[in-house]
Order: sequence, then C-alpha cells, then structure tokens
Amino acid sequence: MKAPKELKVKPIRNGTVIDHITANKALNVLKILGLPSKEAAVTIAMNVKSSLMGKKDIVKVEGRELESREVDKIALIAPKATINIVRDYEIVGKSKVTLSNHVNGILKCPNPNCITNTNEPVTSKFSVMDMGPLMLRCYYCERIMSNQDIEKQFK
Ligand SMILES: [Zn+2]
Repeated sequence: MKAPKELKVKPIRNGTVIDHITANKALNVLKILGLPSKEAAVTIAMNVKSSLMGKKDIVKVEGRELESREVDKIALIAPKATINIVRDYEIVGKSKVTLSNHVNGILKCPNPNCITNTNEPVTSKFSVMDMGPLMLRCYYCERIMSNQDIEKQFK
C-alpha cells in the first residue's frame, strides 16, 4: 500500500502566509489577528514537520495583509515566524518577525499596583531579559513576565 501523500494546502490568491510559527501557537496568532472573522478565510496547519524547527504551525489568511503592530505581537508568541505577503498567487514580500529589546504598549503589566495599571496616562514598557524562553521586565515596577504570562494575554 502506498503511503498517503502529504496533504497540500490550497494556495491563496491575496493575503498573508505566516510560516515557522512555534508548534501549537497558531491559535494564539489567530487571536492576535482577531481571527477568524467574516471577511478573511483562514487556513491553519498545526504540527507540520519542519527541517528547521522539528515541528511548526502555519497560518494562511486570505485577503488580509498584516499591520506592523500585529507583526510585533506575533514576535512575542512565535519569535521564528516568517511573514509572506501574497499577491495574485505570488509571494511578493518575505520577512522575519523581529523582537526588539523593548516592548512598548503591547502587553499589560501583571502587577495590579504598577503605574501602567492606574489611571495615569502611562504606556506599558518592558525590557527583554531573555529571548528563549522569552522573559520581560516591566520598566516601571520591575515585575518579571514569563513566557506563560505573555501567552496568557493572547489566549
Ligand atoms: Zn509594571
């Protein structure tokens, strides 16, 4: 008996393919993108074999290109992700997500007494302490945020 062929995912005409997502994080990525929605067709592949990563997830979003703020959020959940922009079935742009040393205005500090959680008009600000697993420190109250704390905000 022949081995079943690998299931091929239909190519998209216009939109974004997010590849090399950390395995099992596809649903967090959808949450970041506010998907699924009525407008965008979404295809998800989870735990796909990857020579680079062992296993990975892939998300294809038809009819939507990502905003830089969304890409910054994806970097927190899937630091190896690549963003492919597809127009008329061709990949016209390919980029890696990048995590800068500071994460501003994206995450909420877990410390309820932190100045960023009061009525003061202060935007949250974290420094990256460690890249893998990701660990951040609040600039104001020095509370450490672990990888799990970060993921909780995108569930
Ligand atoms: Zn804080």
